[in-house]
Parts: sequence; C-alpha cells; structure tokens
Amino acid sequence: MTNHGLQVTIFHKIINREIPADIVYEDEHMIAFRDIAPQAPVHVLFVPKQDFATLNDVPEASALVIGRLATAAARYAKAQGFADRGYRIVMNCNEDGGQTVFQIHLHLLAGAPLGHFGVPS
Ligand code: AMP
Repeated sequence: MTNHGLQVTIFHKIINREIPADIVYEDEHMIAFRDIAPQAPVHVLFVPKQDFATLNDVPEASALVIGRLATAAARYAKAQGFADRGYRIVMNCNEDGGQTVFQIHLHLLAGAPLGHFGVPS
C-alpha cells in the first residue's frame, strides 16, 4: 500500500489562499474550484478542508466528509442548470486510479456527453 502521509498539497495552498484558483463554492467543510486542466466543458474539484490523503484513509466515521462533497456537486449541477442533462463524479485513488494530488477530492465533469469510461490506457 502506498502511504503518502499528510503532506501539504497544492489544494491546501488553494484553501489557504497561498495560490490562486477559480473558486466556485466554499463553506466551512469544503472548497470547490475549476480544474486547471479541464477534461470536460465543466470540470470542478470539490475538496474537503479535513485532511485525508486518499479515499483509503477515510474511516466509516468520516463518511459524511465524502457525502458532503457529492451532495455539494449535485447542488452545483442544479444551480448551474445541467443536473437534468447529467454529469459524472469521480474520485481517483492512488497510482492505478490516476490520483496525482494526495488530498482527497471529487471531480465533477459535465457539459457534454461523456460516454462510457473505465478503459485502461
Ligand atoms: P487527481 O489526478 O484525481 O489527483 O486530480 C488532480 C487534479 O488537480 C487534476 O485534474 C489537475 O488538473 C488538478 N490540478 C492540479 N493543480 C491544480 C491547480 N493549481 N488548480 C486547479 N486544479 C489543479
């Protein structure tokens, strides 16, 4: 198992306003901002303020941390008017999952038909 520990990531720096980001939502639990390398017309990252390096590190007792990200993404989709057309939410975990930033985050992708997924590259 890869143990990335609790590093300061680029997302912590965005939360602390040490580097800029296109922030679309923030509350006491999370921040959401546009992905710098969008994979769809809409690509927003929802990042909790509580530290977990990967999904593997989230205990059952902290399930609400993940639930809040998902419901915030759905609220954002409704507010932006694309909830009925649809969207995808993704959490990448570790190397095979393609995770590159080791503070958990949920990707919201939308704005075009996204097709199927899961094909190994
Ligand atoms: P993951 O590969 O699941 O860990 O996702 C990390 C995401 O963070 C990628 O989609 C990157 O494009 C995105 N990213 C990296 N640095 C920044 C940044 N400074 N601002 C916004 N998004 C970023």
